[in-house]
Amino acid sequence: MSADLAKDRQHMVEAQIARRGVRDAAVLAAMAEVPREAFVMAGSEASAYDDEPLPIGEGQTISQPYVVALMIAAAAVQPGDRVLEVGAGSGYAAAVLSRIAGRVHAIERHAPLAIAARRRLAALGYDNVEIRAGDGSRGWPEVAPFDVIIVSAGGPRVPEALKRQLAVGGRLVMPVGSEETLQRLLKVTRRSETDYVSEGLGGVHFVPLIGAEGWRGAPPAVPRLADLIATAAEPLPEIDDPAFARAFDRFAGRRLVLLGESTHGTAEFYRARAAITRHLIEEHGFSLVAVEADWPDAAAVDRYVRHRPAAGGEPPFQRFPTWMWRNVEVEAFVGWLRRHNAELPPERRAGFFGLDIYNLSGSIAAVLDYLDRVDPAAAAVARQRYGCLTPWQRDPAVYGRAVLTQSYRSCEAAVVAQCRELLGRRLDAAATDEGDGLFDAAQNAQLVAAGEHYYRAMYYGGAETWNLRDRAMFDTLERLLDARGSDAKAVVWAHNSHIGDARHTDMGALRDELNIGQLCRERFGDAVALIGFGTHAGTVAAASDWGARMAIMPVQPSAGDSFESLCHAAGPARFLLDFHGDDTLRARLAQPLPQRFIGVIYLPGSERLSHYQDAAPSRQFDAYVWFDTTTAVTPLGPEPHTPADAAETYPFGV
Ligand code: SAM
Repeated sequence: MSADLAKDRQHMVEAQIARRGVRDAAVLAAMAEVPREAFVMAGSEASAYDDEPLPIGEGQTISQPYVVALMIAAAAVQPGDRVLEVGAGSGYAAAVLSRIAGRVHAIERHAPLAIAARRRLAALGYDNVEIRAGDGSRGWPEVAPFDVIIVSAGGPRVPEALKRQLAVGGRLVMPVGSEETLQRLLKVTRRSETDYVSEGLGGVHFVPLIGAEGWRGAPPAVPRLADLIATAAEPLPEIDDPAFARAFDRFAGRRLVLLGESTHGTAEFYRARAAITRHLIEEHGFSLVAVEADWPDAAAVDRYVRHRPAAGGEPPFQRFPTWMWRNVEVEAFVGWLRRHNAELPPERRAGFFGLDIYNLSGSIAAVLDYLDRVDPAAAAVARQRYGCLTPWQRDPAVYGRAVLTQSYRSCEAAVVAQCRELLGRRLDAAATDEGDGLFDAAQNAQLVAAGEHYYRAMYYGGAETWNLRDRAMFDTLERLLDARGSDAKAVVWAHNSHIGDARHTDMGALRDELNIGQLCRERFGDAVALIGFGTHAGTVAAASDWGARMAIMPVQPSAGDSFESLCHAAGPARFLLDFHGDDTLRARLAQPLPQRFIGVIYLPGSERLSHYQDAAPSRQFDAYVWFDTTTAVTPLGPEPHTPADAAETYPFGV
């Protein structure tokens, strides 16, 4: 067995299982012991530790590792227990059970699968497991009673035969329901000869239990996911129609409403978030707008919208990617916020703040500028490396070359020094103001420290740099809320990758990355609404390399197997999906699906590799807003399409 697979297995146990709350030491040890690659189909070994079910032949699947662990932990299997598994499939769950229990009996309906499973267990020397082919919905009366029964397929109800074969004190864990309705994981405990108690453990998604006490023949037809989305979708009017924002009144009671975007350059996402935010400020007492922008730049906008004296210095949002905040859509919102605040006493004015830890883009531009002068070859490598900062834009080959390039290494100290210098200048520029000035200066001082740490970590790459950034953004958000008092309510604008709970995306599951959405949920629980935004096709403002010119690019139609393609097939041009309004939809979208993430860089040529990752939409978000066709933002200079006079004075001439 390769060292890589052993590492993958350990990572699976930590990232997919322990972190999701399965803490039973015996279960974790058993999952860490059994080589899952021996139970998948030949050729799929490399995917053995992926966070999903995999095909095993006969139209059946080996369950997702987390679900196997969850069921075994729920059944509280003890050393010495006699266990029955119904639906042995590949034999994997039986193998894990055999590492904990005394003896395991497993039944599989498909004889070829039962034979293959038996062979695998024998090859591993797991000799306390017996597997036979047959209908497990009737149990295995000859060897009953069982301390534990695990049913690895979903039936219409808990089979009476299985209940009878449970020892008093025994536990049965099984998914009940069809794929059409919702399968719920049930735990049934037999308390006496006649008394059984049952508890629900949440929604799951299993292949059907077919047999005398399961589904008879074919289970009920499964509706197409796109049809389910079409049924649940609440069509939205045009963004400017007041009814658009009113559709979000259901989130008005939350303390934090986080609004995402699946690109950094789509006009509809900005306009929709502006409309929702205006409504939440005007009607529901929200007073903080915190955005994925650099603190010092957003602070200049904040002074403008709250009618405070300008601080001087360079105009905000001068560096790549300028179009993210220097665009007519943001300009219109900033103008509205200033007019709205004019009517209010200073203490009730809504503020506009940047969550990003420092002027990252400015720092990167400065680093590239430096490398362009002293070592153009290393600058090209650094451009690639910065483009790869967002994990779905990785190119391991280029990254590996960068690390190996001697000239690149020799520049590293200068890269860090350059960043410190830049951050120091930002601090100098920001430290002159009264009133809120102290908060601003303290915040900037923290940003310098965070920046220094970030750049040190960036040399080593990986999850740590991403996590430092998102933790720091969350810390800033918390500090803003604290400064405004216990009843302060905030709207956050940031990319879906920062807002959708990272635990339910490849970011968290495979790369140990967390984000603001996850941290908000962990800290504020139900007081948070995470709302994702997505699109099928249209145009987007983006660049093809870090620091390159912005272009208006066509967005490719979404990939055939993606979440976006399902939303597209659902029909309406604009809609809201509320995952708490429809249990069936929520259960079906709790499975990972490819989802598109476009940042400031868009690489249509390698879209699949660069921009898609798997994510479970209904776990990642509380709701999702869909615009089937979208258009690029209109930037204020120095990019193309500039209303020139506005560009020079923004935001002060709005
Ligand atoms: N535990 C398995 C593993 O670790 O690979 C995965 C189980 S798979 C999700 C469900 C299995 O249940 C399928 O292989 C299916 O053929 C089997 N099954 C369905 N109805 C059954 C029945 N009545 N008796 C026995 N097996 C059944």
